[in-house]
Amino acid sequence: KLHNTILELKGNIRVFCRVRPLLPNESGAVSYPKSGENIGRGVELMHNAQTYSFTFDKVFDHSASQEHVFIEISQLVQSALDGYKVCIFAYGQTGSGKTYTMMGNPDLDDQKGMIPRSLEQIFQASQALKSQGWKYNMQASMLEIYNETIRDLLAANRMAAQDGGSSKYTIKHDANGNTQVSDLTVVDVISISEVSSLLRRAAHSRSVGRTQMNEESSRSHCVFTLRIFGVNEGTDQQVQGVLNLIDLAGSERLNKSGATGDRLKETQAINKSLSCLSDVIFSIAKKDEHVPFRNSKLTYLLQPCLGGDSKTLMFVNLSPEVSSTGESICSLRFAARVN
Ligand code: ADP
Ligand code: MG
Repeated sequence: KLHNTILELKGNIRVFCRVRPLLPNESGAVSYPKSGENIGRGVELMHNAQTYSFTFDKVFDHSASQEHVFIEISQLVQSALDGYKVCIFAYGQTGSGKTYTMMGNPDLDDQKGMIPRSLEQIFQASQALKSQGWKYNMQASMLEIYNETIRDLLAANRMAAQDGGSSKYTIKHDANGNTQVSDLTVVDVISISEVSSLLRRAAHSRSVGRTQMNEESSRSHCVFTLRIFGVNEGTDQQVQGVLNLIDLAGSERLNKSGATGDRLKETQAINKSLSCLSDVIFSIAKKDEHVPFRNSKLTYLLQPCLGGDSKTLMFVNLSPEVSSTGESICSLRFAARVN
């Protein structure tokens, strides 16, 4: 039996699939119909002697470089400078390449991910627009949502960066759709190298902090936000755009049996917030009147940047290995919900 699902979400939502390369000692279960190139539209998985085929807006195979991927999103990134609100998510099980895609290795030119590349492109483009009278003010922030609790990844003092359930890191939206998170560190993007090194430190502390943190990083959402305020001194035109790049918590179905206490709470929080995100995205795609933004911190935080004339891109990251096929099919079905 052949399963064929077309994953083309309507409106302003696009889905790109990226399959990471096989690591040593892994064997692959993924193939690409009719594509001899690193970017196609179809992807097939073999599972229990069945072939599952999916079609996306784009499919990047193992040989697609960070640069290849960035070229395909650069227009979307650029639209934040024109005043659009943009969200780019990475969804997939732990080990599928979400963090590689979003952050990568900012110190190696060929391994830089979408966050450093987006910052560079927007910074350069804003400099170039100076000659047309545009002046830009840009601010970056980076936070983590773990167990429905916000942590400030750019806070100088990491221990002070945790919300103790108090009024710290309260999310507020004003009438213009501007979001404020109280006490969150916001960094002015004046020089690209300064911001890059800050992000590098944040990414580093997220991935190799305390052993416990390391485990938690796959169980938390990491949200990078760039706010852009532009004013044209010749025409008085103003624009306000936002670019969000979100490295989501691992989507693997966690083993609930035997989970108690903190682990059970954690499992429930991830399941809840990922299903809230899919509820919100698909409710927007269906043009529902009521969109359940308030059901999780992540969707509430991003509310002004989802729906309306904002733009959303979802990367579905896949591991090509045989043992991941079950999870891969779940990830693909997540994206297929709109059908
Ligand atoms: P996740 O964040 O989804 O848990 P990672 O981004 O940490 O997954 O990727 C898991 C491993 O695979 C890492 O060692 C990473 O460097 C490697 N990897 C992921 N994607 C690629 C890619 N496109 N090219 C080369 N290596 C990759
Ligand atoms: Mg990761």
